[in-house]
Amino acid sequence: MSQGRLPPWFKQKLVDPKIMSTMQGLLDGLKLNTICQNALCPNIGRCFSQGTATFLILGNVCTRHCSFCAVKKGCPVPVDEDEPQHLLEAATRLGLGYVVITSVTRDDLPDGGASQFAKVIKLLRQSGDVTVEVLIPDFRGSPDAIKTVVGARPQVINHNIETVPRLYPEVRPEADYARSLELLFMVKNLSPEIVTKSGLMLGLGETRDEVIEVMYDLREADCDLLTIGQYLPPSPRHHPVARFVPPEEFAEYEDMGREMGFAEVASAPLVRSSFQAATLYAKAKSRLEQAIHLKAK
Ligand code: SF4
Repeated sequence: MSQGRLPPWFKQKLVDPKIMSTMQGLLDGLKLNTICQNALCPNIGRCFSQGTATFLILGNVCTRHCSFCAVKKGCPVPVDEDEPQHLLEAATRLGLGYVVITSVTRDDLPDGGASQFAKVIKLLRQSGDVTVEVLIPDFRGSPDAIKTVVGARPQVINHNIETVPRLYPEVRPEADYARSLELLFMVKNLSPEIVTKSGLMLGLGETRDEVIEVMYDLREADCDLLTIGQYLPPSPRHHPVARFVPPEEFAEYEDMGREMGFAEVASAPLVRSSFQAATLYAKAKSRLEQAIHLKAK
């Protein structure tokens, strides 16, 4: 992480290197990637020491060039047909009841990798009482690709809106704000019982009003869960940090989000889209079931 001196609220306990190497050994043994490592997530120590991780499928080279992201960009690797089985094995060996899967964006594949997501989800769901959350790319808005993922019946579909529309050209130039909202809305229309989730980073130059506007847009798209965290540049070559948002401001957004009708919101400097995902889902579950019940009436 390169941002000069970090404010005190980023202070974290050091993690036992043995724990890190045990997890590393397991992942290497099964030729699996995690977004935790590839995106240089600041919470990696805490999550690995709790025996959890967010698996990165479809290789670790992305076809897009988001200026905030540490993931390698360039020529992606061929799809690994054994990946779904390896992922199931890792989840089983880690004893995971809640599994989070994400991917790089594969604009080079006809379905953007949707079929690989579906294979992984189905295998995990067939394996037993496992809750599956997928953090998906936008599949360039392809309804067929979205239907393929929805059809595999993950319990949670997450798609990050990342930042405010004004900053898209400099932060995620190949993405489209309206397309990302449309994706979340489409999932909810196709399958109302699937929980939808999205995430925002702060500190890229957005204003308070722009953040609130995005939160309303997400509610308009019937998004259930929201995560809000502080952007930390992975290196001096990445998008500079405009501001370290104080924890009190994150807490205000959390309260505001609940008032807007999100079933649950996690908002704090170190929050990331799949950080403590099982906890957020569990906290929201009863409210979500009530909402689905009311809609069904
Ligand atoms: S699409 Fe995702 S993985 Fe690719 S550069 Fe953007 S944020 Fe990183």
